[in-house]
Amino acid sequence: MKKKFETEAVRTQIKRTEFQEHSSPVYLTSSFVFEDAEDMRASFAEEKEHNIYSRYSNPNSEEFIEKVCKMEGAEHGFAFSSGMAAVFSTFAALLESGDHIVSSRSIFGSTHSLFTQFFPRWKIDHSYFMINRLDEIEALIRPETKMIYAESPTNPAVDVLDLTELGRIARKHNILLVVDNCFATPYLQQPIRFGADLVIHSGTKLMDGQGRVLAGITVGNKELIEKIYRFSRITGPTLSPFNAWLLSKSLETLAVRVDRHCENALAVARFLEAHPSVERVKYPFLKSHPQYSLAKKQMKAGGCVVAFEVKGGLQAGRRFLDSIRTLSLSANLGDTRSIVTHPASTTHSKLSSTERAETGITDGMVRISVGLEHVDDIITDLKQALENSH
Ligand SMILES: *Cc1c(COP(=O)(O)O)cnc(C)c1O
Repeated sequence: MKKKFETEAVRTQIKRTEFQEHSSPVYLTSSFVFEDAEDMRASFAEEKEHNIYSRYSNPNSEEFIEKVCKMEGAEHGFAFSSGMAAVFSTFAALLESGDHIVSSRSIFGSTHSLFTQFFPRWKIDHSYFMINRLDEIEALIRPETKMIYAESPTNPAVDVLDLTELGRIARKHNILLVVDNCFATPYLQQPIRFGADLVIHSGTKLMDGQGRVLAGITVGNKELIEKIYRFSRITGPTLSPFNAWLLSKSLETLAVRVDRHCENALAVARFLEAHPSVERVKYPFLKSHPQYSLAKKQMKAGGCVVAFEVKGGLQAGRRFLDSIRTLSLSANLGDTRSIVTHPASTTHSKLSSTERAETGITDGMVRISVGLEHVDDIITDLKQALENSH
């Protein structure tokens, strides 16, 4: 019988060794040995399953991949040294010169840079759609379009995209749907259920959840993963065994951690919404969120990120950050430690104001990744920083 999410997260393990260890060991080995010449020949010929070299496969990566596949309802996967390694390798393995992709405009900054700065070199073209204009996607699809690419919820504006609708469009035009599911984690949302062919994660965020490692993973359809595997075992963006081991351990507690992140984030969002120095708050599980009912349908809870607008624009936003005492000013998210950023002056400062507006970023917008400190202390810090922001 199929086990529940939490059980798979804890119980998916590689085979025990002769020592009968309870927790999986770390396999810090670059290569593996063979019984004899025939064993070696057959392994290299891929007539049998046998680890050869850790750039191709390693027991720790295998455990991590198998676990994420069970969590996402995916057939197979490959683990990468960072989220961007997963994003790049997925495109590089599946796209050719002359191909075209249709992508949401609201995507991770480095993914946008990949499309705009490097794809033109390989003659891969892209068209963007706005998150509130899914009805315009079909007009962007051309004969050479190979995939639709999207993130939901988006960063940093936490907008929610209708994955069922994206899946329907992809199937109708016989193209792939690839979803970066990093903000939601497989615990809150499983894009394959809505028609995605591939799901990408930065394991750096909530999957590790403790701000220790960079990691990435792509899971989904077996034939597509096979292509990604063939590309990656040659080019080498592979996840290290140690980080794979850490990630697999982290996933054992993903459900309880994410539950608390979401509980704290909702409390923070409600506090901010009621505060007189706050212009507006965006959080997928607040009734005031423009896609609230869609978020409720698609996600189990709202995630760890809350975006809000301090009254007084850019200056107030910066003063707010300068007044923060307990929380961290840092570029990461999905950490146990709550993190505050001001996208307009940092991560998204290179965008023009039109581009910022297109991705829902305003000058006074502050993004909080709500962590696992006691929610009272998080709110106390935000409260005093808001009082000092004007
Ligand atoms: C962080 C992030 C990435 C990139 O992951 P890295 O591990 O930093 O390379 C990709 N997509 C989203 C949505 C992210 O938040």
